[in-house]
Amino acid sequence: MAALFSKLKNAWNLYQQIDMDQLSKLSAKVDLPAVLRNVGKMDEQQLAGMMKMLGGEHKEKKQPPIEGDFYHLAETLTDEERRMQLNVRSFMEAEIKPIVNEHWLAGTFPHEIIPRLATLNSCGITYKGYGCAGKSFLMEGILAMEMARVDTSISTFFGVQSGLTMGSIYLLGSESQKQEWLPALRTFKKIGAFGLTEPEVGSATAGGLTTTVKRVGDEWILNGQKKWIGNATFADVIIIWARDEADQKVKGFLLRKETPGLKVEKMEDKMALRIVQNGLITMQNCKVNEADRLPLANSFKDTAAVLRMTRAGVAWQAVGCARGAYENALKYTLNRKQFGKPIASFQLIQNHLVEMLSNLTAMQAMVFRLSHLQDEGKLTDAHASLAKVFCSAHTRDVVARAREVMGGNGILMEYDVARFVADAEAIYSYEGTKEINTLIVGRAITGHSAFV
Ligand code: FAD
Repeated sequence: MAALFSKLKNAWNLYQQIDMDQLSKLSAKVDLPAVLRNVGKMDEQQLAGMMKMLGGEHKEKKQPPIEGDFYHLAETLTDEERRMQLNVRSFMEAEIKPIVNEHWLAGTFPHEIIPRLATLNSCGITYKGYGCAGKSFLMEGILAMEMARVDTSISTFFGVQSGLTMGSIYLLGSESQKQEWLPALRTFKKIGAFGLTEPEVGSATAGGLTTTVKRVGDEWILNGQKKWIGNATFADVIIIWARDEADQKVKGFLLRKETPGLKVEKMEDKMALRIVQNGLITMQNCKVNEADRLPLANSFKDTAAVLRMTRAGVAWQAVGCARGAYENALKYTLNRKQFGKPIASFQLIQNHLVEMLSNLTAMQAMVFRLSHLQDEGKLTDAHASLAKVFCSAHTRDVVARAREVMGGNGILMEYDVARFVADAEAIYSYEGTKEINTLIVGRAITGHSAFV
């Protein structure tokens, strides 16, 4: 009985280990049906020999590395830049990845990571002075990509702090405002937010802001509402953009959190970037001292200078989101087996993977060049808009395919693609929708403004 059981077990092992390619080669040389008819009469040694013969060498196929940088763009970085990139990558993988799904589902922000985030020395990395590193926009872009590759919410939190808030102060603030805020924001001792969008005015902020400001002596009085303002629920300072009742121009103000008349309500139930704490801000006769007005913000053109800089960063974020989804999906398809084979070996799955990689590679090449233009001081609104519109649209395609190749698991949080699918929707809309960025590029290439 024991011998029969052992034979059955061996026969089953044999069946499981058969290399079908090897089998088809052998069938051309030996009478396989005759061999198989005699399997039951073989002793263990004979069976083992046959298993060796049919099973080929049974080497596990070596998988190529999972790598979203197919054209080796990282090789163009300096050693220091590459070190910084890998430092942020390991931080994101070690400290954000394990906690991200839990916070995303709960809609909470992991405040405990802020001190570690500060040690990366990456906030405000392109600015000169005030403790900032004065590095390239390319470096900043790479870091935005690395963050979004693991989580777009953390990358957005970082972008609001480093780009929108610090950028407004760096480009448009007075020397004393820079001294007060830039070092504190850079080290995350203070948190910032950027309040431009309103409940009734999103795309049309250039001409349509309804938040008003009125000068009374040495003070300015703010009234109005702002919607969607990232980090607003716990920000120490919010940059508020408002229309001056006197000259109808858009001006910028540093609104401190303790200001009487300021109310911030958390926006609940988002389906994307759930970790980012977006606030609905109401200002009722909020008084701001003249010393807290951004002196170089005298019209919406000045606001647009900040947006030009940060829109380029959003294009990099989109690349990171696409890259994370692609790499996770590729890994999944190599490990997931159906019909006895990794699904990565199926032609239709490979088609999805290659489409994803093509988009991802085109996007990366585009944002690399975009940052070079920015570093050379040649970046225009249209350059930034084209990259934002192209990358955020193609990211949607990449994440949809990533989700598709994972079947049902593509919509489960634990497989680390569903979150990217949802978050890509926010990237697609914020910092200028597809339509608005398209109109900006259209105006630049035709000379005709099609804005209504
Ligand atoms: P709308 O302007 O109402 O647009 C609705 C649709 O109409 C869009 O498809 C748009 O493209 C289209 N449309 C509008 N005008 C035209 C036109 N002329 N021609 C053709 N189509 C047109 N704002 C901040 O100030 N600070 C923040 O920190 C911030 N964070 C955000 C975070 C998230 C997650 C999101 C989703 C948004 C955030 N925003 C923030 C707001 C964001 O910038 C706006 O959502 C965006 O500018 C679009 O405005 P809207 O949502 O009001 O859409």
